[in-house]
Amino acid sequence: MQLRLAIAGIGNNVSALVQGIHYYRRLLSNGCDPASLPGIRKFRIGEYSVLDIEFVAGFDVDVGKIGLPIEKAILSLPNNYPDLCLDIPPSNCIIREGVWMSNGVIAGRQAVVEELRNARAEVLLYSLPTGLQDMADAYAECALDADTCFVNCTPEVVARNPALLKKFQQRNLCVVGDDLASQMGASVLHRKIIDLLLDRGLRLDSTYQVNLGGNEDFKNLRVRGLTKELSKKNALARVGLDLARVHVIPSGGVVASLADRKVAYLNVAARGWANTPVSIDVKLEVQDSSNAAGVIIDLVRLAAAAKGGGAPGFCSAAADLLKSPPAAVLPTENAGP
Ligand code: NAD
Repeated sequence: MQLRLAIAGIGNNVSALVQGIHYYRRLLSNGCDPASLPGIRKFRIGEYSVLDIEFVAGFDVDVGKIGLPIEKAILSLPNNYPDLCLDIPPSNCIIREGVWMSNGVIAGRQAVVEELRNARAEVLLYSLPTGLQDMADAYAECALDADTCFVNCTPEVVARNPALLKKFQQRNLCVVGDDLASQMGASVLHRKIIDLLLDRGLRLDSTYQVNLGGNEDFKNLRVRGLTKELSKKNALARVGLDLARVHVIPSGGVVASLADRKVAYLNVAARGWANTPVSIDVKLEVQDSSNAAGVIIDLVRLAAAAKGGGAPGFCSAAADLLKSPPAAVLPTENAGP
């Protein structure tokens, strides 16, 4: 069964998502066994396989992307996810102008709603730069008006906004958010190391995480990193952990040569038996946007499947794939840069 997906923000995440689906389509048409494909958690979720995503609408504000079909827009600068040279067949999904801010007022909402309705979009994926709460609210309202489920890739508060969540529930729509936890990202790895230490009876002295990259996300996080920092702390928060001892730097700097690759350094300092010290250092290097796409593919299918299954509101099956689901504690202390 096809899932009709609309997307706001045609950046690197979307490039990795679109190209990845075509990459797997090619492998399967060459006779690969779906169970043997690398990088896929579940080939099928509900009625949807990884190949069943149909891109029906796309929105951006970058004039270099507006008017292009999605398979071309994803390759436009400043996107720098690699071109996997897959000869993606031409699509009818033309990128339209999205919602923008004009003199402090949100503009372009009605056109987005109409496009979503005309495209009969089932899910709207919100994948804008971090730190634009007004935009997250505006696109969530567009989804509500167009009868479309909503997936929030970013740390902005949507699923955690009780008023918005109630509106999605009342309209029998699903919302997934907030902030995806990358497939093998710094947050999931950091969480596992802390869990292991606490489980083995050690006491955490301090821990930090520093992330470096060379894509637009890392540039943006240098100036609008606060919600990401809070969300990353949400991903680490657990019983018995003093968040005052946790330091997270979402973008420690932009290293152009890394392009869409990301490097994360983690350090955990703890005390073991008789108060003796233990220190762990880890370096993680990943393709940043593949890491997002490997989770987005599940989030959009979980949203559609939950709606199809008559379970509106927050899709709890997605909670483990998110940094800040509605139950998350949002730390307000020690949130400075
Ligand atoms: P990106 O900067 O490459 O892409 C963002 C896109 O949004 C750009 O094309 C930009 O032109 C567009 N945009 C800006 N304002 C817009 C508007 N008003 N309407 C429509 N489009 C608009 O970002 P990305 O790397 O694709 O990441 C997207 C989001 O996902 C970021 O908030 C990022 O923090 C979050 N995220 C990424 C990862 C990951 O890459 N591993 C993990 C978790 C969360």
